[in-house]
Amino acid sequence: MTAAKILLVMLDEDARRLVARALQAAGFEAEAPAETGTDGLPRFAEPVEADAVLVDETALAVPALHDLLHRVPHLPVLLFAKQAGRETLMRAVRVGAIDLITPPVRYENLVQAVQRALTRRDAVRAWARAETRRHTQELRDHIDELKTLLEVGRILTSELDPDKVLTAIVNAAVDFTGAEESTLFLLDDQTGELYLRASRDLRSEAANTLRLKVNDSLAGQVVRSAKPVVLDSEAPEKIKTAYLVHALIYVPLRLHGRVIGVLGVDNREKRGGFTERHIARLSALADYAAIALDNAQLFTAAIHERRKLETVLRHIKEGVLVLDESGEVVLINDLARLVMEIPTEEQALGRHFVELCRSAEVEKGIQAALDGKEYRTEITAPDGRVFSLQVLPIPHVGAAGTFYDITHFKELDRIKSEFVSAVSHDLRSPLTAILGYVELLERAGPLTPMQQHFVERVRSSVQNITALINDLLDLGRIEAGFEVEKEVLSIATVVRYAVDGLLPQAEAKHQNLVTRIADNLPPIRGNAVRLRQMLDNIIGNAIKYTPEGGLIEVEAENRGDQIILRVRDNGPGIPANEQPYIFNKFFRGSNVASEQPGTGLGLAIVKSIVENHHGRVWVKSEVGKGTEFTVVLPGMENSGEPSPSSV
Ligand code: ADP
Repeated sequence: MTAAKILLVMLDEDARRLVARALQAAGFEAEAPAETGTDGLPRFAEPVEADAVLVDETALAVPALHDLLHRVPHLPVLLFAKQAGRETLMRAVRVGAIDLITPPVRYENLVQAVQRALTRRDAVRAWARAETRRHTQELRDHIDELKTLLEVGRILTSELDPDKVLTAIVNAAVDFTGAEESTLFLLDDQTGELYLRASRDLRSEAANTLRLKVNDSLAGQVVRSAKPVVLDSEAPEKIKTAYLVHALIYVPLRLHGRVIGVLGVDNREKRGGFTERHIARLSALADYAAIALDNAQLFTAAIHERRKLETVLRHIKEGVLVLDESGEVVLINDLARLVMEIPTEEQALGRHFVELCRSAEVEKGIQAALDGKEYRTEITAPDGRVFSLQVLPIPHVGAAGTFYDITHFKELDRIKSEFVSAVSHDLRSPLTAILGYVELLERAGPLTPMQQHFVERVRSSVQNITALINDLLDLGRIEAGFEVEKEVLSIATVVRYAVDGLLPQAEAKHQNLVTRIADNLPPIRGNAVRLRQMLDNIIGNAIKYTPEGGLIEVEAENRGDQIILRVRDNGPGIPANEQPYIFNKFFRGSNVASEQPGTGLGLAIVKSIVENHHGRVWVKSEVGKGTEFTVVLPGMENSGEPSPSSV
């Protein structure tokens, strides 16, 4: 064992030597401070290697000494003084001395005093060590607890199967508290009751069907107060029907400020309950558990919804294709694959539509939808079926396309057109005969005014039917794509002829028919007869539906190579809800009187002719103000083309 070291801070040299000698004789190491400052006063090295310090009265004035005692508060101080007066005692107390040594200094007294100081120092050290150990242990326990909690949290939050999450929670609850059993109740929003959702080591037969009322149960109290409930009693208490426990903790499972359930641990056999620490641990676990459970339930719900949606889309009669905003396929059903000629789903999912599309029409439609525009088209599948494809932009998703099988309707349409065309043909000959005989009637002999009147009625009716039949035959021909013979022509000439032809009708109604035709319109490639028919229908409608004295304006201009034709009137206008249908066959608006002659085919013919010329037609109209039809036709570049022939 090394000798105890006593630091002698004594400015009185003689006394110091004397004391040093005496202490060394008793087996101590006695040393004066090794260093001295510029002021000649002692300095203390760091760290201080002394077991006690002996100070004389004069050294009390050394500032470094006070520093030292401040730094090492457990260092016992002995004061060596010439006499034990009041003043000296006060100084001894101030410096924290534990003993006072005064002359005559007897060897035994000195040694005893030093020994006492050392015993005290040992006691202080032992206490400090024990305290440190206790605190360190506490800290270590705390860190271990946090680590465990973190680990449990990690496992819980990475698990997405609700059943596994629940099992992990009740297991961790038992491990965390050393309890005999653990239970987890969830609140049934519909009945307002708590039902047992998971448990560990629960010895109750009724466990699986356990339901507790929130109003009159201990667990319910946790829900109502959103605070833990602790039970600790010598005599077992009933917490559920026929269920006795000695000690119990219930903590709330909280999510978004709402209690969604209760996590509990209890001891049925063991006496002695749980501590504050167990409550804190269980509460921390409950916080994790609520989030993990919520995550798992949301995930399960999302998966469930997605599967449901996929099943619906897979079994739906239409082909379905969904793309994300970058144009990659996220969903495709069997029918859509068949139409797009993609053998397997794997070949489509995650791929860009440009890589997949064999049909330029489908590709164009998808691109349009991704650019925010709806697109409709018809495509023919490899098996010959005809599909109507509609591609829509879907906000925050991308685009979705549906393929609808219209083969049957196409076939019906064809049969109907053939039938209409055949019947129209067959009707024309007898009608011509009727008209011929009606003409002959007048020549056969004088007719009474009444007979004359009837003949007139017959003639007008036959003319109406003939007009309808001609329209039907025309429409059938145009739709079937016949008569596409086109030549380079001047649209200005066509407009002028049409207006001239209709002028007598407008004049008969005292209407003002105004024409404005821009100079240098580009020539167009088209069928003069059909274009004239198109204009006749639009201008004819304007004259027909606009009351006497109205204004009808016909304009032709160009924007670049595009020719724009406008026919405007100040007639009755078309109701907004009917405007989408006016180009349909046989549609007649509610704005026109039923006695007004017409077949409802005129605008259908207009649309077919315009589309046959790769143009577009639309209407703008307001009831009470008037109607404006616009037709846009692609013109030809004004260079090198042969000059337009006249119509
Ligand atoms: P029809 O004139 O034989 O009835 P159309 O196909 O030419 O058939 O026109 C369809 C419907 O559109 C008309 O019945 C009428 O309701 C409406 N319409 C067309 N042109 C005009 C117009 N200039 N002003 C008001 N309504 C019009």
